Amino acid sequence: MRRTLRILRVALALLSLLLCIALVVLWIRSLLAPPAAATGLVNLSPYPDRWFLYAQGGTMLLARERSILDPADVPRGLKSGIDKRSVLGFGIERWQQSHNWPVDRGTITYGTDFKAYYCPLWSCFVLLLILPLIELPRMIRDFRRRRRGLCMNCGYDLRASPSKCPECGASINKKQKEKLLLPSPR
Ligand SMILES: [Zn+2]
Repeated sequence: MRRTLRILRVALALLSLLLCIALVVLWIRSLLAPPAAATGLVNLSPYPDRWFLYAQGGTMLLARERSILDPADVPRGLKSGIDKRSVLGFGIERWQQSHNWPVDRGTITYGTDFKAYYCPLWSCFVLLLILPLIELPRMIRDFRRRRRGLCMNCGYDLRASPSKCPECGASINKKQKEKLLLPSPR
């Protein structure tokens, strides 16, 4: 159980680290793109409630697009302009758009309602970096303990007693036991 949890933690830390690298690429691309262009757009769900995730000018956005298809709702329901609330680059934006869909005779007017939750890309970066920063020193420590034949629990030298740690009583796993029976590298 403990071993499974550790593997899971290490896997999550590595995934987090990979996402950090992807985020830096996205960050640079979003800063190079024209201000209105969405970079790295990912469609999370189809209509009627379409969610997508993208970057724009150093900001990460999670947006929902909802269609207002009922013609009766469109003319009076559509608001012009952007409803914006933000603090320190974190915030919510809401806007509506009217579309004309050409059909045989004339057009059908419908609206789309957008709601975007956004945050600065650096904040996602910091958040994703927490786990690797916690996990990496532990991974290095475990790697060194395993290689030097030290107790994985307390770091005590096990080369003289390769059955159980005399310091903390931790049992030694099979893999490490096999290693301890080999002559230590000089
Ligand atoms: Zn120990």
